[in-house]
Amino acid sequence: MATDNRFEKLAAEGIRGLYPYVPGKPIDELEREYGIRDSVKLASNENPLGPPQSAIRAITAGHHELALYPDGGGFHLKQALAKKLCVEDSCITLGNGSNDVLVLLAETFLTGESEAVVSQYAFVVYQLAVQAVGATLRVAQANPAGHRQAYGHDLESMQSQITAKTRMIFIANPNNPTGTWLASDALEQFIGSVPDDVIIVVDEAYSEYVEESAYPNALEWVARFPNLVVTRTFSKIYGLAGLRVGYSVSHPDIAALLNRVRQPFNVNSLAQLAAIAALSDDGHVGRSRRINSEGLADLEKGLSELGFTVIPSVGNFVLVDMGQAAGRYYEALLQAGVIVRPVGNYGLPNHLRITVGLKEHNERLLAGLETIVSSGNGE
Ligand SMILES: *Cc1c(COP(=O)(O)O)cnc(C)c1O
Repeated sequence: MATDNRFEKLAAEGIRGLYPYVPGKPIDELEREYGIRDSVKLASNENPLGPPQSAIRAITAGHHELALYPDGGGFHLKQALAKKLCVEDSCITLGNGSNDVLVLLAETFLTGESEAVVSQYAFVVYQLAVQAVGATLRVAQANPAGHRQAYGHDLESMQSQITAKTRMIFIANPNNPTGTWLASDALEQFIGSVPDDVIIVVDEAYSEYVEESAYPNALEWVARFPNLVVTRTFSKIYGLAGLRVGYSVSHPDIAALLNRVRQPFNVNSLAQLAAIAALSDDGHVGRSRRINSEGLADLEKGLSELGFTVIPSVGNFVLVDMGQAAGRYYEALLQAGVIVRPVGNYGLPNHLRITVGLKEHNERLLAGLETIVSSGNGE
């Protein structure tokens, strides 16, 4: 990284090559910079319904515990997850968001000598976690643009990147930012073919949204493949991104190793309480899923009608090819008070990633784009 940072040379080698993660633009920042109000954020795949009321009640009732350290073992949340997911609680590792678990995995299993494999266009946090520990990242070619799962993971290509030094493979199913997914048969076969000294991380951050019948539940494979780790989060369908709770399910011996590296109080007490409440709130999850599938269909239709190429998505967001450098659309939408996500950092300079919002949010986005298109501003 070209920099005039005077301490650059002192930084660990992995850190020297790193670029910080760029989050979606916060609403408050947009409104300060542009002097506008009532803007909408469709940039970080958050739940437009907000957190479940049950979680808010749990936090309100739990605030008197704030002077105390949280339960570092997360006993009650792990019990609730174990029951819900039908796994042993010894298989669960809690994280400050699933991002935390992804970093713990890299810190636990990768060194400067080892390699990790990801797909081109895979969720960027994998790359950051691998580079930070000085390991080498091997990037497998993704599916080409015209493919049924355009820009999605190509498992054969990932397989071909495995060497004797490979210790970890990250697979996002579905993947962010592409919205593409892998079917049960293909993924199961791939996992079975990976050498057992390679940890396979299947990131299911959006699994609760997926409605395809061939979409797998990788948790069912954890007992059979001891090198498989499945991560999930409360940030997406559960609507708790601000509280930071995620988890992994793995062989208990992997969980025990992660537990050595994990900060003792990595999940705060309110997050634990809210997550327990959200987990059993089937009503909120059902509403979120319904609103998403309607909104996703509306967005895919509206965007296509405007002449943009939409990559079919099974998540709560959609990747759109704007047909030219996407920056002007991004800027014009910001001025119209709609924040979306440019993905040039993924090597997709012509694309935007748009989170599915409530009906009125999606309509506002489409109306904003229509104005840009008809004014020729995007030309
Ligand atoms: C959003 C997201 C996560 C979850 O992040 P948290 O740290 O749990 O908020 C993980 N993986 C993917 C692919 C994501 O898009």
